[in-house]
Amino acid sequence: MSLGLVTDRRKPNAVTMKHIIYFLTIVLVSAACEGIGQSRITYVPDTAMLGTAYETYREASITGRRFKHADIEPLIRKRQGGDTFEVIQLGISVLKKPIYQLKYGNGPKRVMLWSQMHGNEPTATMALMDLFNFLEASGDGMDSVRTLLKTQTSLYFIPMLNPDGADVYTRRNAMDVDLNRDARSGATVEGRLLINAAKAVQPDYGFNLHDMHIYYNVPGTPTPVTIALLAPAYNAEREVNEVRGDAMRIAAGISQLLQEYVPGGVAKYDDTYSPRSFGDNFQSWGIRTVLIESGGYKGDPEKQFIRKLNFISILNALIEIAQGSYVQYDIETYESIPFSDSKLSDILLRRVGVSRDSMEYTVDLSINRNEYTIANDYYVQSHITDVGDLRENFGYIELDAEGFHFMPVKIYPKVFDHVGDVSLEQAMDLLRQGYGAIQLARMPEDRQHGLPLIAFYQQSPGTAGPHLGRAANFFLAKGGAPAYAIINGYLIDLSSMPRETFKNYVQ
Ligand SMILES: [Zn+2]
Repeated sequence: MSLGLVTDRRKPNAVTMKHIIYFLTIVLVSAACEGIGQSRITYVPDTAMLGTAYETYREASITGRRFKHADIEPLIRKRQGGDTFEVIQLGISVLKKPIYQLKYGNGPKRVMLWSQMHGNEPTATMALMDLFNFLEASGDGMDSVRTLLKTQTSLYFIPMLNPDGADVYTRRNAMDVDLNRDARSGATVEGRLLINAAKAVQPDYGFNLHDMHIYYNVPGTPTPVTIALLAPAYNAEREVNEVRGDAMRIAAGISQLLQEYVPGGVAKYDDTYSPRSFGDNFQSWGIRTVLIESGGYKGDPEKQFIRKLNFISILNALIEIAQGSYVQYDIETYESIPFSDSKLSDILLRRVGVSRDSMEYTVDLSINRNEYTIANDYYVQSHITDVGDLRENFGYIELDAEGFHFMPVKIYPKVFDHVGDVSLEQAMDLLRQGYGAIQLARMPEDRQHGLPLIAFYQQSPGTAGPHLGRAANFFLAKGGAPAYAIINGYLIDLSSMPRETFKNYVQ
């Protein structure tokens, strides 16, 4: 498909030292190279500035992942008619929700950034709202950065390209199409908006902002991939031309910056050529395009730390584009970033003793918790994802269960009216006695609850052994006494009070 994008606007070797004059708060180091009169400019990201910018301008009205179109629309519309941004409505979604583009700056380097084309991938949208606050402010000692961006770049932001998906927290749009597989066909309302925006703007640079699942790890390590980067391929051979090479350099710069925040927690996303995807097509249209995928980070279920990483990565990459300093990074640096592996789970229990069908054996168990969205919140439903020798696998939480035995949960004989009739202390007492489940007299309207117990109305839980694919509800016992409970995929140490927030539901 030809977009008719102008590709000869790119200026090879246009970035030279003489253009790099915009450092005011930015540290510039000139490192001597061989040869008289030659030097290589090294731009060192100002992490103190980036951190201050984030902490100062984080959009306080968004605190979790399940915000809706209605939550961000006022943050966009309040900027209409202002001095900082040119806000236009690109169009409307299938379900008639406006999709906006915010333009910042009037510089020659055109950059297009779009987020949340997958509705359940909101992390970068939060960071864009933070970035808007930063760009709009002034008089805080960071105006040099704004001046740099304003004079050298024109930034075109399209936050939440898939509002219909975002509002129900699903990947696809209201036509059940994956927008990131629609770059070639342009069959979707929202995909066409992005294609048309690219035609109109003819960007030099693109940022395709996504989330991925949290179970990617850096190969051979338990470290989650917190950010995955990709300079998407523009052909099946995965060749590197100047456009993709530049995208690789930008990604290498992001990776290097992130080492300071998540050492070893950056990987490359799968680089198989995807002829239907936007990043791959943008790259083939001559737009230096970087895919940023937000993954997982231990203790950050709402991805607020990863939101910060998005903010600083994007802001710094824009600074590097504005001043052309990304040329300092080598393609080899990008190539040396490892590809993600996928061997993480929420819980990994090693060497669990099992007695089943008069057999005694020892297995490792991996357990994940799937999320189910209810309005602005969610509950989880666990399942056992693997049973066997999982020595090469890892968990966000791991337990060496050698000497512990799988023990099924018992149902407490008394029926309760409400989950609220049982306190956390009572729940822990029940668990210590081997009761993992309570029955309710009726199904409540609000099925969510935060007790470390299975609460059920009719559907009796628990199984006699660890079954692949089944819910993870059991004890790990020593000498017949429960020491740990696994309730809906949460590992609970029965010797102390849990501090975790349980996102459970009445089943
Ligand atoms: Zn995605």
